[in-house]
Amino acid sequence: MIPGNFEYHKPESIDGALSILTEWGDDARVIAGGHSLIPVMKQRLTDISHLVDLGGISELKGISIDQDTVTVGAMTTQHELITNEELSKSVPLIREASLQIADPQVRYLGTIGGNVANGDPANDMPGLMQTLDASYELTGPDGVRNVKAREFYEAAYFTAREDEEILTSISFLVPNGGYAYEKQKRKIGDYATAAAGVLINIDNNICSSVSIALTNLSDTPVYCEKAVDNLVGKELNEDTIKTAVHDCVEASDPVADTRGPVEFKKYVAGIIVKKALNSAIARA
Ligand SMILES: Cc1cc2nc3c(=O)[nH]c(=O)nc-3n(C[C@H](O)[C@H](O)[C@H](O)COP(=O)(O)OP(=O)(O)OC[C@H]3O[C@@H](n4cnc5c(N)ncnc54)[C@H](O)[C@@H]3O)c2cc1C
Repeated sequence: MIPGNFEYHKPESIDGALSILTEWGDDARVIAGGHSLIPVMKQRLTDISHLVDLGGISELKGISIDQDTVTVGAMTTQHELITNEELSKSVPLIREASLQIADPQVRYLGTIGGNVANGDPANDMPGLMQTLDASYELTGPDGVRNVKAREFYEAAYFTAREDEEILTSISFLVPNGGYAYEKQKRKIGDYATAAAGVLINIDNNICSSVSIALTNLSDTPVYCEKAVDNLVGKELNEDTIKTAVHDCVEASDPVADTRGPVEFKKYVAGIIVKKALNSAIARA
């Protein structure tokens, strides 16, 4: 499988990349790690005549933790997320989830920006970013705007990002309390059959705040608003956890595919959410 002909650009600034995107419109596309884009180009499922490599733009790289805010450049790789000690200490949830993405080979090149921008419901980072209530910084010809991860995903591969915008960074507050990212997959290196991220704060066995989001259980990541609303202010016991799990499964909307029928996926979703909630509670 060989891609069609294309012209390769490697700008050194965001402005340089934007001017190529503006000049070539629909014919141009940015490339980050290439793990998702190159396969579709090779299968000729997309017709791109100008490929804009973001790898030469140093402003898109790096992780900074400024007081209580974490900012991650879009071109930061999953490997860098795992090996950054300061990040792992401040937000261990990121390392826990990143270690469950594919395998080291994929993680060396796969970027956080490509993972969240692609809109692939199977990617782990979108659900993780909804758990963290992250914001995405989008830079386009008309300037910079921020969109919440919880509002970014519209349908599979459709997001709030305009074609000529580049996702430049992702930011979120350092969370406190318990955390967990649990994922069920068919084998090492696979995408999730079902995965869930949880952050929770507990005060005298009462849930004072919680965030729960699901991966690959709908055509977008699912932020479990009803489960969150029902759990906050409640004592944590078997019944309230059972209700939260039920609310999350109800919020999911999986489709049957090679990972199993809908009933199976909902069953796995229930197990994964329960596991994630119990782990997060134990760590809070
Ligand atoms: C074998 C295999 C297994 C995998 N398993 C998992 C898994 O278990 N979990 C998981 O989460 N992921 C998995 N992935 C996906 C991988 O981790 C990458 O994150 C993903 O492919 C996209 O990142 P990338 O940097 O390669 O993006 P690319 O492939 O370069 O780009 C993907 C899309 O996003 C767009 N894009 C990229 N960066 C930007 C940006 N900054 N601004 C705007 N648009 C942008 C591109 O134009 C393209 O349309 C797997 C990939 C492979 C090949």
